[in-house]
Amino acid sequence: MAEPLFERLCLIGAGLIGGSIARVAQERGDIARTVVAQTRRPETLRRVRELGFADVVEADAARAVQGADCVILCIPVGAYAGVMRQIAPHLAPGCILSDVGSTKGSVIRDLTPLLPRDVHLVPAHPMAGTEHSGPDAGFATLFQGRYCILTPLAGSDPAAVEKIAELWRRCGSMVETMDAATHDKVVAIVSHLPHLIAFTICGTADDLAEETREAVLKYAASGFRDFTRIAASDVDMWRDVFLNNREALLEMLARFTEDAQAFGRAVRWGQAEFIEDRIRRGRKIRRGLIERHQA
Ligand code: NAP
Repeated sequence: MAEPLFERLCLIGAGLIGGSIARVAQERGDIARTVVAQTRRPETLRRVRELGFADVVEADAARAVQGADCVILCIPVGAYAGVMRQIAPHLAPGCILSDVGSTKGSVIRDLTPLLPRDVHLVPAHPMAGTEHSGPDAGFATLFQGRYCILTPLAGSDPAAVEKIAELWRRCGSMVETMDAATHDKVVAIVSHLPHLIAFTICGTADDLAEETREAVLKYAASGFRDFTRIAASDVDMWRDVFLNNREALLEMLARFTEDAQAFGRAVRWGQAEFIEDRIRRGRKIRRGLIERHQA
């Protein structure tokens, strides 16, 4: 077995993502000698202890990070600034601070002003997840065959970036690097907009008359069901994603709205060719995903 990458890995947040990283680390043994998991609420704390995927379980974030050579924030992105204020004075010199947040521009905006001089920041986003949350939702194979995007800053220490890249490779991910603005645009279209649409379509269906709503649920298997799976996602996480990827999401929403209106116009005017072209493009994109093993 390879040498552990880190002596003491501290996960701030032990839900779906934090709990999954801890499980991989426990299974492999070559990610960290000791895994510390921090979580705030007593019920989550109790559950993390019961599940036993971390060597040390802590309620206090400042205490949790002490002596860690790597700290990964695995909490909703809107909580970063507050938590960073608590942990910054306790981060060990030379420590690598990383995260898993779904937005990257906001993360850099919130963390850099509070970053101690001798701590290396390497923002990351594993492109893997489910609609489930909490410590029970995590599993060790979550990141296998999925992309993990790193968005290092101009002055990031290359050795720190390489260690975080290696951590994700050991989790089974393919690692890509890009700047935060590009990341935020990409995820706005592939993840944030589809969630916005799913939440909206469920809301629209729910607004319909009682009689229709029953019919919607009864016949949900005809496509609506796939939206309801996405719409079952965590409230805090998604509120924070929408509020922290504002510009990119609004830009994609505007483009989508234009395209949807063009589609509607084709339906109104009976433009079969336009409609067929859209359907063919959708099918082509689905085939592409299957070929890349990302379906
Ligand atoms: P989760 O399962 O809901 O777990 C969230 C964790 O954060 C819990 O340990 C929770 O602890 C803690 N937490 C919640 N609110 C907090 C606050 N205000 N201050 C401090 N701690 C707080 O969430 P997750 O799905 O693992 O998501 C974590 C991060 O990963 C998010 O930034 C998200 O954008 C990103 N991400 C998610 C997915 C996905 O599909 N879910 C995919 C990629 C990246 P308590 O229970 O003790 O409050």
